[in-house]
Amino acid sequence: MMQQLRTDLELADRAAIATYLQSEFPFLEDAETLSPYVGGRAAGLERLQSFQLEKYGKQRNFLDGEVSRLSPYVSRGCLTLEELRQWALKQPRSRSVEVFVFELGWRAFFHLVYGEEGDRILQDLEEPKVPMGQHQRSLPADIANGTTGIPSMDTLIQILRETGYLHNHARMYLASYVVHFRKVSWRAGADWMYSLLIDGDFASNHLSWQWVASTFSTKPYIFNRENLERYAGSVLPGDPKKGDPFNYSYEALAERLFGGAYTPEPTGRPTGQYQ
Ligand SMILES: Cc1cc2nc3c(=O)[nH]c(=O)nc-3n(C[C@H](O)[C@H](O)[C@H](O)COP(=O)(O)OP(=O)(O)OC[C@H]3O[C@@H](n4cnc5c(N)ncnc54)[C@H](O)[C@@H]3O)c2cc1C
Repeated sequence: MMQQLRTDLELADRAAIATYLQSEFPFLEDAETLSPYVGGRAAGLERLQSFQLEKYGKQRNFLDGEVSRLSPYVSRGCLTLEELRQWALKQPRSRSVEVFVFELGWRAFFHLVYGEEGDRILQDLEEPKVPMGQHQRSLPADIANGTTGIPSMDTLIQILRETGYLHNHARMYLASYVVHFRKVSWRAGADWMYSLLIDGDFASNHLSWQWVASTFSTKPYIFNRENLERYAGSVLPGDPKKGDPFNYSYEALAERLFGGAYTPEPTGRPTGQYQ
């Protein structure tokens, strides 16, 4: 007979919840470690109150910049996109409001695409714009374990494993590293990240991986050392100079990664504008 789980524990008593979960699910790794994200609508609304929207427009691409961190609440249905949009539109008019509402739109868009395409989003939606035939179908263990030897990537993997959350730019870096630098299929990477995310959202996740890979965009997303230092330098450890796979111009990176099959824009700007 199936055992009923207790539902009478006080949500606020997180230590008691951790002890209970560990006793019920001893086979789970880290069952005693609770996510830093407290669940529920009340906690989501509290987070919204502390979100400094006025800083968002300028800071959202920086790993230590102000972002809402509301995705766990949105993805679990504690807050809706529409109420966040309404909330933002009531704030003093600014570029930050515009950018925030625009970003909410990405999630809505991904869900519309999922609604149209269904499980087809598990396969390439378009032809890749760079060669991907030789990509490995399973995720290498060093990526799963965060032991790639590249301190910046290992730190991102560790944060993902420990908290279930990554900043958007960090997700882009990691996805690009997996697909373009390590030549692993986007599907293997997407399934892995989705399994660890506390805000795991099938449409946003798998379509974002396809966007990075270039099967749902016009070009691959790649980043270089300069970009990493500018947006993540204050948060991520530096990588060893010798053999740093990111320490190239975009033109040189494209040549190394895609053998001339793709030429980035001559401005040298980071490829892709969706960040
Ligand atoms: C490879 C990859 C995988 C991703 N997987 C997921 C996922 O499984 N679940 C998920 O919710 N988001 C996913 N995203 C989108 C985005 O990274 C997160 O929604 C965002 O980082 C959540 O942090 P936040 O709440 O502080 O976002 P904010 O920047 O504060 O944005 C507010 C809200 O808008 C929505 N949003 C913002 N940017 C995006 C975006 N680019 N795509 C979709 N929705 C967006 C989210 O609901 C977010 O909570 C992924 C992005 C990438 C590049």
